[in-house]
Amino acid sequence: MKKGDICLIILLAIITILVFTIYEFQEKSEVVSTAKVFVDGKEILVFDLNQEEKIQEHNFKFSDGKLATLKTQKGKVNQMRIEDCPQQICCKLTGWISSESEQIVCLPNKILVKLS
Ligand SMILES: [Zn+2]
Repeated sequence: MKKGDICLIILLAIITILVFTIYEFQEKSEVVSTAKVFVDGKEILVFDLNQEEKIQEHNFKFSDGKLATLKTQKGKVNQMRIEDCPQQICCKLTGWISSESEQIVCLPNKILVKLS
């Protein structure tokens, strides 16, 4: 092996480590820690997402008595299930959301779930 080859291998190793470090950093900075539930623009509930890997199910009631279920897991939230939602779009179309750019919306009930 020539001296130049060794230099090239070391350089490639450094670049690989750098790329992985940057990737890892970006991944971590995107992890959300709370899920907020808004009804008609007002924040009514906050869930902590810094929990264990196990899926947790939260049942809660809105002020008008409607029952809702929201599943949470470390850094993500699952579709919401709301009693009496006419088309259940909020439940059927949205799966797990895990970034600030994603939201769960229930238009008939004016409910919004945001991550931060
Ligand atoms: Zn809905």
